[in-house]
Amino acid sequence: MPVRLDVIVASRFALDGGAMFGVVPRPLWERRHPPDSAGRIRLASRALLMRFEETGRIAVIDAGLGGLWDAREKERLGIESEEDGLVRTLGALGVNPEDVTDAVITHLHFDHAGGWVRRDSAGRLRPVFPRAIHHVQREHWEWAMRPAARDRASFLARSILPLEEAGVLKLADGSGEILPGLEVRVSKGHTLAMQVPVFRGRSGTVAFPSDLLPTTAHAGEAWGMAYDLRPLDVAAEKAALFATASQEGWILVLEHDPSHEACTVAVSGEWFALSPCACPAEL
Ligand SMILES: [Zn+2]
Repeated sequence: MPVRLDVIVASRFALDGGAMFGVVPRPLWERRHPPDSAGRIRLASRALLMRFEETGRIAVIDAGLGGLWDAREKERLGIESEEDGLVRTLGALGVNPEDVTDAVITHLHFDHAGGWVRRDSAGRLRPVFPRAIHHVQREHWEWAMRPAARDRASFLARSILPLEEAGVLKLADGSGEILPGLEVRVSKGHTLAMQVPVFRGRSGTVAFPSDLLPTTAHAGEAWGMAYDLRPLDVAAEKAALFATASQEGWILVLEHDPSHEACTVAVSGEWFALSPCACPAEL
């Protein structure tokens, strides 16, 4: 039986355009992503729902920003995200929070992991998916507990620690298969031990590169983010991803692209060309 896939826009928000494009000069990036008057560019934060019909497992990859934001933070980050936005969208697709068996956390930065936690009716911070195994790399978890000053602002204890308190974490040591056909590959350029899910289905492969390829504008080798801890590793990992994706016809889901949910990759001379496409509904 095939695996059903749904790409969900969990949140929309905005970040400083300069920070999103690192060393790329503004006249180059602003043509592709026109900034607002505060210099911010609009971004999506997507999640991927995977329904494994053969085994009944239901996986959610990343969770957007969630709803634990006060008015000032919402204004600063241009957040359009309600506490139950992801849950409501899943509900419309026929999935209840209790049905989700696997939460795949690429990494714990707030724009990917804020949505794993919400307040219950008594005001306590609890996992959104109470029965799910929450998969994260051990090295990344430990980094998130003691980040460097450089990326401390990207981790929010309120949306991370309740996962540990609830005992839902499964810490992994390296790349490997977590569900039939669904492998995570450790990537070390953006942050310590981010994991990139790659699903090899019956009729094709879909990967979820997370912050290794945030938008279609980040295809070029030098087009990384100022947030990347190891920019040269990001460039090398991206080139390796593109080489395989172009050879094998992979579809890459784009977590942050404001307009496009996914793309394919083709070799074009020394360059890789990305073509926006839809994520297949099943594989
Ligand atoms: Zn990140």
